[in-house]
Amino acid sequence: MADAAEVPKVSDCLFCKIVAGEIPADVVRRDERTVAFRDVNPQAPTHVLVVPVEHQPNVAASAAADPAVVADLIGAANEVAAAEGLVSSAAPGTTADADPGYRLVVNTGAGAGQSVFHTHVHLVGGRPLAWPPG
Ligand code: IMP
Repeated sequence: MADAAEVPKVSDCLFCKIVAGEIPADVVRRDERTVAFRDVNPQAPTHVLVVPVEHQPNVAASAAADPAVVADLIGAANEVAAAEGLVSSAAPGTTADADPGYRLVVNTGAGAGQSVFHTHVHLVGGRPLAWPPG
């Protein structure tokens, strides 16, 4: 049996509660390993969070525990992007009008803007996106 100190603390995790259906969310995609739901404070017409079912505090911890989950998150985000009309059949590198695209953001650590400590990928799109980000 795992030492208590090794057991992830999930009882007060907001995103664990959304995954479990204990807190309502606008879920747009779900599979055995990931859940995608709309951000409650959207920063763009499409702003979806993709989270792993398995609780880890950030993507570095998820990658260490189960590297495949990172691919699962990005694959799920791409599927949501396609469903949102953000994946263009235009050749890569054409104009923004023809290929509006989307952005994936993974804030990792408080200093990088992470505020919910359950791994999540932001999928943002549907408007022009500037670079560098703030
Ligand atoms: P972070 O700052 O990268 O950790 O992103 C956390 C995101 O979670 C923010 O964009 C919040 O708007 C979003 N968020 C916080 N609470 C909820 C909720 O209950 N439902 C959906 N999104 C949430």
